[in-house]
Amino acid sequence: MVTATATDQLCKNFINGEWVESKSTKIFERRNPANNDEVVARIPLSTREEMKRAIAAAKTAFPAWRDTPAPNRGKILFKVVRIMEEQKEELARLLTREEGKALKDALGEVQRAINIAEFMAGEARRINGETLPSETTKTFTYTIRQPLGVVGAITPWNFPIAIPIWKITPALVYGNTVVLKPAELTPLCALRIAEIFAEAGLPAGVLNVVLGTGEEVGDELVQNPLVHGLSFTGSTDIGCKIYASGAQQQKKVQCEMGGKNPVVILADADLKMAVESVAGGAFASTGQRCTASSRVVVEEQVADQFVEMLVERTRTFAVGDGLQAGMEMGPSVDETQMNTVLKYIEIGKNEGELRSGGARLTGPKYDKGWFVAPTIFDKVKPNSRIAQEEIFGPVVSVIRVKDFDEALEVANSVRYGLSSSIYSTDSNKIFEFIDKIETGMTHVNSPTVGGEAHVPFGGTKQSSIGPHEVGHGAMDFYTDTKVVYLDYTGRKRESSQK
Ligand code: NAD
Repeated sequence: MVTATATDQLCKNFINGEWVESKSTKIFERRNPANNDEVVARIPLSTREEMKRAIAAAKTAFPAWRDTPAPNRGKILFKVVRIMEEQKEELARLLTREEGKALKDALGEVQRAINIAEFMAGEARRINGETLPSETTKTFTYTIRQPLGVVGAITPWNFPIAIPIWKITPALVYGNTVVLKPAELTPLCALRIAEIFAEAGLPAGVLNVVLGTGEEVGDELVQNPLVHGLSFTGSTDIGCKIYASGAQQQKKVQCEMGGKNPVVILADADLKMAVESVAGGAFASTGQRCTASSRVVVEEQVADQFVEMLVERTRTFAVGDGLQAGMEMGPSVDETQMNTVLKYIEIGKNEGELRSGGARLTGPKYDKGWFVAPTIFDKVKPNSRIAQEEIFGPVVSVIRVKDFDEALEVANSVRYGLSSSIYSTDSNKIFEFIDKIETGMTHVNSPTVGGEAHVPFGGTKQSSIGPHEVGHGAMDFYTDTKVVYLDYTGRKRESSQK
């Protein structure tokens, strides 16, 4: 086993199948967000030159990988699945130490990554084009799917295993080579992924990982002309910039970005079920999910009862070091993120009625980490900042409305359009909600979070640009379509002749 993820050493980049020391003198120390005494990783903030080398390695590896029969590419992915299954617990523990989410959520994330890798391995035998009837006689018209070449994957810290896997596995199965630039805060998960692919027999240069900042190595992936596809997940502001730069250079770009996801609760809803769903959707993973339930839009008639029940449930929401048994919520990912959350809580105190939480957690269990209490604001106005801006923390805003029409209007009144859900037993209203809600994913009587391995994942409005990720549709992004006209008349045809 290579020592790429040993915590006492400076991490290395993975370039051309080798663990390569960075020449950079800039070092970033990552600490466990639940226990700041523990150094989890020391990583180099690599240079642009090092990223260029990784891109060149991916370019060199591309022709042989493209020419490897797709089912053989799939077999390597099946090995990745087997290794991840064997190491599931260990991977989840690494994830929790590095990112902070509760172990049960980390296990769920690893399982999701396994499911996605398994689905994508199977896709190797389902790469399909179309055959089409031709306008002319003796002509065979069809399409084939071809890889883009080198694909750059830029990923955030909040799903440090699942998101890299849902970009890397389709990219590879369709014949691309990849350079991954993971978030600075979660390097070890990315390096473990590289180790697993290497162990599964992936040829050198087909997957490369370079650690460093978005401004330097991330930007090199965006600017480098050898990169033909860019798959980005992160904030809307960065994603929009990357999309614009990529477009100027005729790169194919896909961006999955922020969210401000509403849960609509109608008066006829099963409130017990809705409360459990909102608590989990808002506070699990510390609210650090793009699909987190951050707005609850509730009909006035049941609002008092709902809020009382939610406050009661929040009182018992178990917060602490995610590695400890029974935890439901861990810390914010770092001090900066915690301070952002606390800043929004202060803003919220002028915008709504604080009903729960509202401060950093203190005491022996919390003092070494970045813990914020799960926070509920009631009677928030739909246009206030805490109801409009992505907080990315355990803060939920309750917005009271008079009826279904107002609920729908409020639910749609943000720039984002990632996920949503509705709690109701009225099928007419449910179907109208499904028709009119402006989100890429919607859930009925279930939380805003989650997704299945073979089902597309993505949003609308300012949450997503480009084709959705995950599922068979991933082929739309990771391949180009080539159209073939094959004339079998065996002679020159007049242009007017059919
Ligand atoms: P971020 O935008 O700060 O960073 C994401 C990645 O982009 C990181 O690897 C970062 O280093 C890199 N980056 C930053 N600047 C760059 C630049 N100029 N050029 C190239 N790369 C650059 O986001 P984050 O804080 O890591 O993640 C949180 C955000 O991600 C939230 O907004 C969340 O909603 C979003 N997210 C979206 C989805 C989705 O599928 N829609 C999933 C998870 C997270």
